Amino acid sequence: MADVIELNEIPTLSLLYKLNRIPIASDQASSYEPNVAYNDKISIIKQDITSLAIDAIVNAANESLLGGGGVDGAIHRAAGPDLVEECRTLDGCEAGDAKITDGYELPSKKVIHAVGPRWYALSAPDAEAKLKSCYRRGLELAVENDLKSIAFPAISTGVFSYPNVKACNDALTEVREFLDEGKGDGLQRIIFCNFLQKDQDIYYKHVSKHFPPVAEVEETDEVTKTSTDETEIAAKLPDPPTTEPKHPDEPSSKKQKTEAAEDDFVVVDKDDAKGTPKGEL
Ligand code: ADP
Repeated sequence: MADVIELNEIPTLSLLYKLNRIPIASDQASSYEPNVAYNDKISIIKQDITSLAIDAIVNAANESLLGGGGVDGAIHRAAGPDLVEECRTLDGCEAGDAKITDGYELPSKKVIHAVGPRWYALSAPDAEAKLKSCYRRGLELAVENDLKSIAFPAISTGVFSYPNVKACNDALTEVREFLDEGKGDGLQRIIFCNFLQKDQDIYYKHVSKHFPPVAEVEETDEVTKTSTDETEIAAKLPDPPTTEPKHPDEPSSKKQKTEAAEDDFVVVDKDDAKGTPKGEL
C-alpha cells in the first residue's frame, strides 16, 4: 500500500501561489474575485487517492457501484471486501449522482461514490451537467455528513473519455459556484487529486481563472511569513512545470484517448473495463 498522506502534508492553493508554483498566464483573466478563504481551502495534488488520510475520498464509480477498473478498482482493492458488501445495499446510483459509504481499510474515513457521465454516450451539454453534478453531490454529501476534507479524482477523464481540459474547468467552475453560494463554509479542504502528470499540469494551468491569487500584503511576523509547517510541505513539492501540459501515455494499458486533439477519441470497450454490461446506456 502507498504511504499514507495526512491533510497537513497537502499544500493549499494559497501556499502554492506564495511559492510561485502556479503559473498566472496573461491570457487567463479571471472573472472571479480573489478569495483568500477559498485559496486556503483548495488543494491540487498528484497522488494515489487511496493514500489520503482525510475525511472523504470520491470514487469515480459506475452505476452498479460494485467496482470496476481505474480509480474504482484501486479504491475497492485498498478498502477490502467490506466496501463492496456495503455497496451492494445501495441499489446502484445514476450518472450525476453520488452515494456515501465507510472507508473500511482505507486511510480515508468515508468514500463518496460518484458516477460520472460517459462522454461518448451523451451530448456535450448533458455530459457537462452530469459531471458538474458529481462534484456538487460530492460536496453536498460531505457537508451533510459533517466531513471537513474531501478529495476528488479527475472524474470521467479515464475510461469515460471526458476531455481533460474541459473536465478540469467544469470541476473548478462547479466547486467555485458551490462556495460562492455559501454552501461550503464548513468544509476545510477540497482537494483535486490527479493521478496523471497531464491532469496535474492542466489543473495548475487553469486554476487561477477560477481561484485567482489574492494580492500580496506586506509581510508581518505573525501573519504572512511562511510557517515552519508550510516550509516542510514546500520542501516535499515537486518542481513547478516549465512547459505546457502535454499528453503522455496513460500509466496503465487501459488508455482510451488518442494523442491528438483533446476531442479526438477512439471508442473502445470502456464498459467492459468498468465492469458494466454494454447497452445499458
Ligand atoms: P472514469 O470511468 O470516471 O473515467 P477512471 O477510473 O477510468 O474513471 O479515471 C478517472 C481518473 O482517475 C483518471 O484521471 C485516472 O487517471 C484517475 N485515477 C486512476 N487511478 C487513480 C488513483 N489511484 N488515484 C487517483 N486517481 C486515479
